[in-house]
Amino acid sequence: MFRKVHYRLTLLCTGITTFILLTMSLVYLYVSESGLKQSHFLSFQRDTGTLIANFEQQTVITHTWLSQMESLNAFTISVADNGIPLLFSERERDEERKATEQEAMDYYNSHFSILLLAPDSHPYHTEYAFTSSSKKDYYACYAYIPYEYGETELLILSPLEHLNRQIRSQRIRFAAIDLTAVVFLALFSFFFTKKLLIPVEESRLEQIRFVAAASHELRTPLAVILSCADAIRGHNGKKPLPGEEETFLHTIYSEGQRMKCLIDDMLLLSQADAHAFPIHPGPMEPDTLLLNSYEAFETLAAQKNISLRISLPDSPLPPCLGDSGRLQQLIAILLHNAISYTPENGTVTLSLSCAKKQKTNTMPYGSGDTYTIAVADNGIGIPDEEKSLIFRRFYRSDQSRSTKEHFGLGLCIAEEIVHSMKGTIHVEDTPGGGSTFLLQLPFTPSLP
Ligand code: ADP
Repeated sequence: MFRKVHYRLTLLCTGITTFILLTMSLVYLYVSESGLKQSHFLSFQRDTGTLIANFEQQTVITHTWLSQMESLNAFTISVADNGIPLLFSERERDEERKATEQEAMDYYNSHFSILLLAPDSHPYHTEYAFTSSSKKDYYACYAYIPYEYGETELLILSPLEHLNRQIRSQRIRFAAIDLTAVVFLALFSFFFTKKLLIPVEESRLEQIRFVAAASHELRTPLAVILSCADAIRGHNGKKPLPGEEETFLHTIYSEGQRMKCLIDDMLLLSQADAHAFPIHPGPMEPDTLLLNSYEAFETLAAQKNISLRISLPDSPLPPCLGDSGRLQQLIAILLHNAISYTPENGTVTLSLSCAKKQKTNTMPYGSGDTYTIAVADNGIGIPDEEKSLIFRRFYRSDQSRSTKEHFGLGLCIAEEIVHSMKGTIHVEDTPGGGSTFLLQLPFTPSLP
């Protein structure tokens, strides 16, 4: 599925960038070609203007001068004196040239001569562009010069082969550049979209893993519940013994509770994924909150013969803004883990400390300061290679797999809660063995 999306995205990116590139190239070519044609036409007008002026000033026009003018400007000039053509070069006998000159004159007569109302008493000249029947482009100039006892007509033609070659080679250059750019853009789009899709693919795989792990976790208690229900119904012909029914019902209840806990955890995580993690900030006292958590776990720690300690700052922290319910849930996850993964006679310490943003500041704690809650144990510890994995969904180390009340979701929920409070969580080794979880949370003073 992702390969298809990848190819489509590549095609889309390449298509859009190619379209923009081609549009820009075409606009540039249009502007550049128009400028080139305009400057050529202006220079043709200038050159023919000079030539006609020279022509008017000369009393005697020699064949040599005309031939020189032709080769100097790459023009073909035809002169008619009182309607009689003046032959000054061999080329004038060329049939093709004659035909082109005739076409140029026809073009002039059909497009311009009707505009001249009383032309014959004044000299005039008109420059224009035309295409011959053999598909060759020319600039042409027709000049009429009246004299006292007659008139001279000039037809100057300038072939545009050089200009057209220039335009053609510019177009080819641009096409080659554009083609290379499109190939590079396609390659870039291919690798870029591939990189872009990596997180999406990872998230999809994560989702698949999550569903697989959740189904697996739910299947076990469900299987136990079904087998207990079967036993109560006497499905395989054996009625339960007196007292056994009560045990089965108890198992069904506790497995049902386990499923409920797991489903609650999964719902919480899916809310976090949808950025709808429920959080209700209000005024709270971090010291009191820690004391409450400590008291809630005292019995569990005592049952496991673990010494649970608490360490609070000498002067209590001022009330701050936070979701006390969520924070208590977070501390409970860490304390529960610490007690679970610490053997008998171990120690678990819950501590609170606050740090000022600027150490020299003697003012009361305020915005920008942070407070740290640490849960340290001297239990089995977490190997370095597992430290980043334990926050993954359904991750459990091999030692904890046998324990029924651990699904491997506690630390992900803890991480989501910390993030929703804009804090951080990380784990370190406790000096001497064990693990220490450190929560760093921003201190937001609550309004009095
Ligand atoms: P679980 O419900 O399995 O405890 P968690 O997400 O809370 O799930 O923890 C994930 C894994 O991290 C646990 O399976 C355990 O291997 C490891 N872990 C968490 N806390 C501790 C701790 N205090 N000491 C050692 N290992 C721990």
